[in-house]
Amino acid sequence: MTMSTTSKNSTPKVGFVSLGCPKAGSDAERILTQLRAEGYEISGSYGEADLVVVNTCGFIDSAVEESLDAIGEAINKNGKVIVTGCLGAKKGVVEAAHPSVLAVTGPHALEEVMTAVHANLPKPHEPFIDLVPPQGVRLTPKHYAYLKISEGCNHRCSFCIIPSMRGDLVSRPIGEVLNEAENLVNAGVSEILVISQDTSAYGVDVKYRPGFWNGRPVKTRMTELTQALSELGVWTRLHYVYPYPHVDEVIPLMADGLILPYLDVPFQHASPRILKAMKRPASSENNLARIKAWRDICPDITIRSTFIAGFPGETEDDFKQLLDFMEEAQLDRVGCFAYSAVDGAAANALPDQVPEEVKQERLSRFMEVQERISAAKVHAKIGSIQTVLVDEIVTDVEGNVEAIGRTKADAPEIDGVVYLEDAEGLNPGDFVEVEIYSADGHDLRGGPPRS
Ligand code: SF4
Repeated sequence: MTMSTTSKNSTPKVGFVSLGCPKAGSDAERILTQLRAEGYEISGSYGEADLVVVNTCGFIDSAVEESLDAIGEAINKNGKVIVTGCLGAKKGVVEAAHPSVLAVTGPHALEEVMTAVHANLPKPHEPFIDLVPPQGVRLTPKHYAYLKISEGCNHRCSFCIIPSMRGDLVSRPIGEVLNEAENLVNAGVSEILVISQDTSAYGVDVKYRPGFWNGRPVKTRMTELTQALSELGVWTRLHYVYPYPHVDEVIPLMADGLILPYLDVPFQHASPRILKAMKRPASSENNLARIKAWRDICPDITIRSTFIAGFPGETEDDFKQLLDFMEEAQLDRVGCFAYSAVDGAAANALPDQVPEEVKQERLSRFMEVQERISAAKVHAKIGSIQTVLVDEIVTDVEGNVEAIGRTKADAPEIDGVVYLEDAEGLNPGDFVEVEIYSADGHDLRGGPPRS
């Protein structure tokens, strides 16, 4: 949960609490940018704010609870609260728990949020538009930024309620996306993280129609988007990419160093029976063949994925197929969740729900296999020279300056970090060539090349 900076004069002040994933963070940035554009101040204290916007998450039950608690806290400490974000799509749930909220909107609802803000806290007469930097207001550190390219999803995975909350895929115009990326780079961003619900589907809804960027036509399509982003000369990292055939087109860009050799592909399972029950489009055999082909073209590629253990109907045999897939695929970064029912998801009605202790037992067997694979991959980096993007500078109790950064294989917040020795003179956002001295869990330690 984050609240932003404090204010001291009589300009109307809005407090902002943001929960949830990077996609929700990206919505929050747009609302904050608009508020600042209209002359509102953003307050970091419930007491000083004239009203509070709570940007919620509603993906799993614990997120719903956290969101409802955050709304309750804002009501207690401020009293005037507008709710937006994924949980806002379930207006009844919010209003039943907190009948005094001023307004409830769903996700991706900038205009509705602004209408509710205007109704309850009139905007100042002279908007200080010039106070808003062209890159907008961002919640991430200055040197990396999430770039949201679309909203919604055309799939209907049976465990997921995102399409019912966010609707079908709507791609942002490519010219607008590339202008935003260019503004971010001009403002000092060194890494752009492309996000959406389904990045590889970008442009399907507009039949890949060309838009314009800097006076030239560019197709609304993932390959053309990544090619254009590579011209900006910063790291570009792709998240939430489905293994569609056309994803193969971006792998040569990775091999040529134009975008980061990193793919975040949520495979979710490997048993064809379970993938079908999940309503996932790709089969596991195709996925293995595709991973092999990607590695043939770009041997350095880092593949991150997520999986679900204990999905309804999963037998011991299905689960073993998943473990075999993991051994074969040798993925670099993996997250796994024991299946948990999400209110409103179609999978809740499936027969043969797996008992909780079996789910947990499978989850730990899965993690055992993957920990071994990940540890071997991380250890293989010892002695190598890596380009590291510095995220943070810290000084220990003895006054030694150390930097914390990431290699091309590490996305912020979800992957490992590199602790850098002898970091005097480095700043967040710097790129530095380092030798990896040692590895510990998912993290690395390194410093100036010794040889
Ligand atoms: S691809 Fe599936 S899991 Fe991802 S947002 Fe769409 S429906 Fe949900």
